[in-house]
Amino acid sequence: MRCLDTNEDVEQRESARTALVASLKQFVGLEGDSADRVVNSLFVRQHPDGRYAKTTILDAGMLRVAAALFDHQETASRLATFIKLGVEERLTELLKLREQIAALEPDPSPEQSLAQTNVATSSADLAKLKHAFSVLLLAHLRLVRTISKEKPEMLRAGLRVADAGTIGPLLAQLKPYADTIYGPAAGKRDFTALATDLATVRMPEEFIRDSQIKTANISEDITGDRSLMDALENLACYMVARDWTDEMRKGLLKNGELNLSNGKPMGIRDDEHAKDILRSIVSRVNEIACGEYDMHLVPLLFEPRDRSTSKDEVGGEYSLETRDIYLNFDRVLRQELGGTPRLIGTLVHEITHAYQHALALGTTKHRVPPGVRDAGAIFDFNAANYAPAAVVALYPYRRQPMERHAHYVGYTVQRNLELALRARGAKRGLGDPLSEDRMMIVSAWTLSSTEPNPINPLESERDAMSRGAIFPRQPDTIPPWQRSANQPPSGQVTDEDDSS
Ligand SMILES: [Zn+2]
Repeated sequence: MRCLDTNEDVEQRESARTALVASLKQFVGLEGDSADRVVNSLFVRQHPDGRYAKTTILDAGMLRVAAALFDHQETASRLATFIKLGVEERLTELLKLREQIAALEPDPSPEQSLAQTNVATSSADLAKLKHAFSVLLLAHLRLVRTISKEKPEMLRAGLRVADAGTIGPLLAQLKPYADTIYGPAAGKRDFTALATDLATVRMPEEFIRDSQIKTANISEDITGDRSLMDALENLACYMVARDWTDEMRKGLLKNGELNLSNGKPMGIRDDEHAKDILRSIVSRVNEIACGEYDMHLVPLLFEPRDRSTSKDEVGGEYSLETRDIYLNFDRVLRQELGGTPRLIGTLVHEITHAYQHALALGTTKHRVPPGVRDAGAIFDFNAANYAPAAVVALYPYRRQPMERHAHYVGYTVQRNLELALRARGAKRGLGDPLSEDRMMIVSAWTLSSTEPNPINPLESERDAMSRGAIFPRQPDTIPPWQRSANQPPSGQVTDEDDSS
């Protein structure tokens, strides 16, 4: 599936390794064998072919960390000294750095913040120290085989100060030690600490932009599919009409009061018919979203996985174990997910979890760019260390990277669909307009690389939604990794809803 380790690529990365050493000498001023040592201890991995076991190539996952050194010369020279130290000395150095950061960190109490006079200088210093800390911690974790004396507090500090360029590789290194930091996953885990830390995780800028484009494309593909939109409008109308008595419904139909925006009468007979239409709608949306996410179709289940446990509480759910999505049609028809826009938003939210999982496992069809690969490492850590809604507060629950991203995509698609249905004249079953609370989640995603935990990101609705706006697709600008090799055939949603 993955095509990272072709010979050609390995050769390229061998020469990239040599070029990185030369650049660190020339542009960052690392002298003597420092550049060689830094690259060899931090940025390489073994050649994948056993015959060349002694050859090292550039570790693609560390590429962004290496590139950032050109903007952080101080970190580079600290790193050159740091890797020569013994384990104990490295830990002392890290603790010292952490104390310096704590001393410069703004104090939330009002008297203290007034006392801070030189704010501008200290925030620049702070950024430098934070970058140095996260790169040095990353270097330390890559140099030791097992962590032993590192205090959980130090590892948590690393997670909280890491910038969007180091967080992916850092979390990849920290993943095996999550139990040490937060307590055993199966036993007494400190979920509050876990959720608090995950809420500070910065997402790579490249991934944020990529997800905005994908979200706009998914919205556009759904709202531009005429038969899908017809089916959605029809279903929306039926969901409202099914609450009335048969007689009332017949009367309204006769008077043309259940006509759709195309002038035809609402064409769904009963719940069974509605479920057939629902099935074709969700299959079509699955094709659209999986095509955009460049992955294989996610299996959709319309019955609970395990009939003995009541799944009636859940509207939609992606399972990390079985890798399928369960959708509760009965709840959908009872309008417990709101109208059809919310239903589609929920479905796309769950498909987005499947995409995150595919990024973590490396099972998208094509290679992904470095920022998206980093996001995969973040999702991989988050999937193994998930803060369940049942045990943490709503706010930190939504701020963990998996939910932050899936909420952004789901709510944006929901709002775009709601607006598109209103624009074509649909009136019934659209549910409540997207709340300000949810608009804020959409808006905050943009700030996720610098301010993952913003207090109030919402300036206006237009501002919030413009970030997930529908805009025309420009084929030339879509890189090959976003293109799907074999688009699944469309046409599962037919016009039968009109004819019956
Ligand atoms: Zn979710």
